[in-house]
Amino acid sequence: MNNDCIFCKIVAREIPCAKVFESETCLGFLDIAPVNKGHALVLPKAHHPTLWDMPTELAEDMFAAMKSVSLAVREATGADGLNVMQNNLEPAGQLVPHLHFHLIPRFGGDGLQLWDQGSYASGDEMDELASKIRNALR
Ligand code: AMP
Ligand code: ZN
Repeated sequence: MNNDCIFCKIVAREIPCAKVFESETCLGFLDIAPVNKGHALVLPKAHHPTLWDMPTELAEDMFAAMKSVSLAVREATGADGLNVMQNNLEPAGQLVPHLHFHLIPRFGGDGLQLWDQGSYASGDEMDELASKIRNALR
């Protein structure tokens, strides 16, 4: 537990939440400021600030939790679709430094615009970057 972390406090039941899921390792609750109603957060109970800090052994539990909760959100809200979002560090929009996945129910015509997409100057530029990323794999 990180004493400065709001999500650790929710896990420890020091702060209330609208809980929708709990397993031995993961917790799911509604986001207090939903993009659409039913917007849920799923997180490991242990404090890992970002995706890069989470032990890979937790991945199966996390993915199972996301799958169950997202299906339940879809059913309960009658959503037409659903986005899974996960922000790492402040420049990427992470406000709470305790790893969490956003499950956002989507409705036809809800008007939510995700992001503008760009392009590469050339196929070579794209291939070079792909090669650089492959070489950085650990
Ligand atoms: P992020 O920007 O990815 O770190 O997302 C943090 C999310 O946590 C935001 O969407 C907030 O609305 C949400 N949030 C912050 N405090 C609470 C809380 N006490 N209960 C539920 N959701 C929260
Ligand atoms: Zn935490």
